[in-house]
Amino acid sequence: MTKEELLEKALCCNRCGTCRGVVQDAIPDIAFATQCPSGMTMFGAYEPSGLMYLARGIAQGDLKWNEDLAKVLYACTLCGYCDDFCQRGYRHTPGIEILEELRRIIPDRLKPRAIKQAVKTLQIPANQKLSVLEKYGVSDVAGKANTIIFGDNTLLSNAPKLNEIGFIIQKSGKKVSCFISDPLPPVSTALINGGCEKELNAAMKEIDARIEEHGVKKVIVYNPESLSVLQKCSQSDAQFVSITRFEADLLKSKKAKKVKLPAVTYQDPCHLGRYSKEYAAPREIMKKLGLNVIEMWRTGNNSLCCGAGGGVLTNRSDLAKRYAQNRWHEAKATGAKVMITACPFCNANLRQDKPRDIKVVDITSLVAQALGYTGKEAR
Ligand code: SF4
Ligand code: SF4
Repeated sequence: MTKEELLEKALCCNRCGTCRGVVQDAIPDIAFATQCPSGMTMFGAYEPSGLMYLARGIAQGDLKWNEDLAKVLYACTLCGYCDDFCQRGYRHTPGIEILEELRRIIPDRLKPRAIKQAVKTLQIPANQKLSVLEKYGVSDVAGKANTIIFGDNTLLSNAPKLNEIGFIIQKSGKKVSCFISDPLPPVSTALINGGCEKELNAAMKEIDARIEEHGVKKVIVYNPESLSVLQKCSQSDAQFVSITRFEADLLKSKKAKKVKLPAVTYQDPCHLGRYSKEYAAPREIMKKLGLNVIEMWRTGNNSLCCGAGGGVLTNRSDLAKRYAQNRWHEAKATGAKVMITACPFCNANLRQDKPRDIKVVDITSLVAQALGYTGKEAR
């Protein structure tokens, strides 16, 4: 993007400030009326309109990059609320495009070390565990493969989760394969957050080529961050679907046990909801499992980010924890005793400092359990 293009996009923001809040008429608690994890915690420059002004200043050359600007930029979780909200109104500021561009052009010396290491997320561990899936009939891709499960960076070494996913796939009776012995590059938003455009493009090129070579039509993705990157960057004709969509469709035809839990609430992951527009599947699953769901007030496309995104969890875990507290405040108000998540990063961040009497549970674990998974299968 040229400086002129950046300026033109940043000028779309008239600093109306409405994206700092939510729009419903009745607000049960004033604390739930705000949005933007960084803006509601730090205010001013950290709000979307402040960040858009920052972009304007950089594009015009009135502002020079320094550590203070970097601090503001990397406090944003790239949750996408401002972008999504602005599209609902009379103007559209492409907030995410602008924020990603700022992360690309910021001088290397100001990029946080933890974020610069994003490129390491492309490394496949020598003892990766994808072969766990073979126990459940998931074959290594050789020749044509219609449907595959993507080995993202949160799954590669995660044998317990691979056992649950393998079990679910087995129960579906569908033929699903996986690049097991030679995994696809495990792309995620860390590469975008870290400004690793070159590496991301190279990884996507490889993914697209191998998908085409093997005639893959459908790719099931567990980590919503990987899903949104694949949907955005792939040039292939394959369809990329979330594991929650796969599970919700499966539960339409399979008998599943009701899951016995006290009242639950659900955290919409930004990359599943706002980025991939998948709000329905997790709710279809929870209904099918017979759960008593009490939604938080900021829900669906008004959902509040848990605070993990944009590299904040890796780079500023103290800040991610503060952001998560805003979400816990609202979750506690529902009276629910279980927080259900559909994203490994929401799960990890919400576990930090969680209220003692509320459990955090991954929705895929519940689906496996409802289909009869006991954990003994993993042994
Ligand atoms: S991003 Fe859109 S909604 Fe937010 S302050 Fe700017 S113009 Fe207003
Ligand atoms: S992407 Fe989210 S955290 Fe970043 S400025 Fe927009 S609303 Fe705030």
